[in-house]
Order: sequence, then C-alpha cells, then structure tokens
Amino acid sequence: MKSGRIKEEMMEEIEKEVKNCKKCDLYKERKNVVFGDGNLDSKIIFIGEAPGKNEDETGIPFCGKAGKILDRLLKSISVKRENVYITSVLKCKPPKNRKPKKIEIENCGIYLKRQIEIINPEIICCLGDISLKFILKNFSIDEKDKITKLHGEIIKADNKKIFTTFHPAYAIYNPKVIKLMEKDFRKLKELIC
Ligand code: URA
Ligand code: SF4
Repeated sequence: MKSGRIKEEMMEEIEKEVKNCKKCDLYKERKNVVFGDGNLDSKIIFIGEAPGKNEDETGIPFCGKAGKILDRLLKSISVKRENVYITSVLKCKPPKNRKPKKIEIENCGIYLKRQIEIINPEIICCLGDISLKFILKNFSIDEKDKITKLHGEIIKADNKKIFTTFHPAYAIYNPKVIKLMEKDFRKLKELIC
C-alpha cells in the first residue's frame, strides 16, 4: 500500500497535467478543470460523467443541483463527503452539457484510470451510464445489460466491486429515480460497512 504522502504527490502530479491538458477541444472553454477531491484512502470512489456549469465555475465536483442530490444520498447512509473520493470521467465541461464524445472519454479516461490506481478503492460506484460503460470497458467486462437493469447490483472485477446507480442529475425532476437511488445507496452502505 502506498503511503499517504506518496499518494498525495502522485495525485498532485496528475492534477498539474490535467490543468495544462489540451488533449481535446474542451480545454478552450473551460473556466476550471474539475479534477476531483476527497479522501485518497477511501474504500470507495464515486465517478460521475462530466462537470456542469457550477463545477466549471468553482472547480469542485458535484457542487450544483446534482451535487445536492448526491450529498443528500450520502447523508442518508451516514457517509461524510470528505471521507470518500468524488470525480468524473471528464475533467472539463462539455458545451451546453452535451454528452461526452468517445474521443473525449478516451483522452480524459487515462487520468481517471491513474486516479483509481492511486486510490485503489475496494468499491467503484459509477454514477450513470457514461461512467459505468467506461469502467466496464476498463476492466474488460463485456456486459450487455443497461443501467436500468444493473443499478444496485455488484459486478466483481479483479479485486474490486463495481457498483452502479443512476446519475444524480437524472433524479432532479424525477422522484421515482430518487427512490431507486435511495434503495441503491442502502445496498451500497452494506458494502461499505
Ligand atoms: N455531473 C457530473 O457528472 N460530475 C460533476 O462533477 C457534476 C455533475
Ligand atoms: Fe484534457 Fe480531459 Fe479536459 Fe479533454 S476533457 S482537455 S482530455 S482534461
């Protein structure tokens, strides 16, 4: 296991690279990169899709409306945000919140892979389809089922558990999705404890 200081240094190194990254056009309009933050020794990493407007303005992941939902869900299972690690597949905001392009996911996903290697969490919690697809591909898992079927399930990969639920943004105007997410988070709580 890497020591805390080594992890911090490795993460700072990647953050520096991301701040200077021009691998795809998204760098042109970003106000801030949204690298991710939290506990580098966390047992669990939460992975979203891409920064939105509030995140772009502040550099803080999940700090807008979707973030409020994530905060509420974490609180519902008594998990403090600062004790876990939160990031997204893309580190720069796509224009008009459009879906990330394949090439952007490929380019930016390299940073995410390195973040996961450093944190080495037991549980990877994918928030939404883009994150799930990226992680499954990364672990060479050929899974045909969609998130509507896979949410709340555990998929084992190497020494990790891949867990997935919906993207919190999808729940903003959809109370049914919130209910499903609350149930998923109760399952997640059992995994963490
Ligand atoms: N949605 C995401 O996927 N990530 C964020 O950081 C904010 C909203
Ligand atoms: Fe670089 Fe990722 Fe931003 Fe593209 S989205 S410019 S790969 S940091």
